[in-house]
Amino acid sequence: MSLFENTLAQIKRASDIMSLDKDIAMILSNPMRKVEVNIPVRMDDGTLRMFTGFRVQHNNACGPFKGGIRYHQQVDFGEVMALSAWMTIKCSVVGIPLGGGKGGIIVNPKELSKGELERLTRGYIRLIAPVIGPKTDVPAPDVNTTPEIMSWIADEYSKIVGHDAKGVVTGKPLENGGSKGRDKATAMGGTYVLNEYAAENGMNPAETRIIVQGFGNAGSIMIELLTAEGYKLVGTSDSQGGVYSADGLDFAALTQCKAEKGTVHAFEGANAKAITNEELLIQDCDILILAALENQLTAGNADQVKAKLVIELANGPTMPEADEILAKKNVLVIPDILANAGGVTVSWFEMLQNADDKYWETDEVNSKLKDIMVKAWNEVKGNKSKYNCTFREAAFITAIGRVEAAIKANWKI
Ligand code: GLU
Repeated sequence: MSLFENTLAQIKRASDIMSLDKDIAMILSNPMRKVEVNIPVRMDDGTLRMFTGFRVQHNNACGPFKGGIRYHQQVDFGEVMALSAWMTIKCSVVGIPLGGGKGGIIVNPKELSKGELERLTRGYIRLIAPVIGPKTDVPAPDVNTTPEIMSWIADEYSKIVGHDAKGVVTGKPLENGGSKGRDKATAMGGTYVLNEYAAENGMNPAETRIIVQGFGNAGSIMIELLTAEGYKLVGTSDSQGGVYSADGLDFAALTQCKAEKGTVHAFEGANAKAITNEELLIQDCDILILAALENQLTAGNADQVKAKLVIELANGPTMPEADEILAKKNVLVIPDILANAGGVTVSWFEMLQNADDKYWETDEVNSKLKDIMVKAWNEVKGNKSKYNCTFREAAFITAIGRVEAAIKANWKI
């Protein structure tokens, strides 16, 4: 099953439960526009290499297409299509006036020099410039793309249109029109949702063991935030492998290990044992937080998950068959489209600040983010009990209902 087929299956499940108008289901099952580009890049050694990139615009009924750009060797059209559809749904779950899009380039950025990466990025933007813009389609960071890359995008696009158009992209550095709080926003949003759940269920952080798969922007900051609140981290990982300690792992020590040795897999001390990423997912814990890539929980391992609660900070980490197994085991899954929506929410704040040329303080960003996340959480919970379904189904129902209303109100078909 391709990743986009997973997305279609999720849309179908929600559509069936809410008896969605067939026309709307058909529209949501097809991205509005798919662009494929071939980017020539002069490498440092003088040779020329071609890279393939994509931009998929899934739906803009609620507002401009919005979504990150991923640099990864395994990017393909189907993945970008899935991710773009999830962006439509995600923006709608949290009720922000944006649609869904996504981009990607097939590349392992770790193999490129900084100059090569910049030329690749600028070349990609020149090719997709006709279909993006501050009010059309606004890219952002995703896997392996950084604020600096967003700066190159803002600069290249501004040169093409001949005026300052930094609102074409979000996730920029602060000194170049970025928003305070954007770097931590994905994890912050996930934390607000978890805090609501914890308060409603009498969960005591000091007695709650967490495992966080992934030590990138989302995962490492989630660890920082949750351990500061008293949660006990017992396992984490990065692309090279995982580490587990029933005694607990210290965030600062892990960060230092990552900086010095390049991976948390090499962490020593605190009775830590090195394990694989696959082993990490089935270790003993109370909450499993998935903050790496898609398709991590599958029909093959979902049954062995020990956690009672799974939080998806990554996009698409749980396959539909795994979802069913977890539901049967009464493991709650707080889905990506809700749990990681903090990132795009603060991207929207960045768009508002760029348009106004007025910048907000971190407290203002975070309190607005919290209001949006808590409201979305309550709406999704409301639909979960109304339809007696999973959190994922309820989040899709919440989102699809809003997109349906926007299509019916605004589109002439
Ligand atoms: N890449 C992030 C996501 O998947 C952020 C997207 C954005 O800020 O537009 O939600």
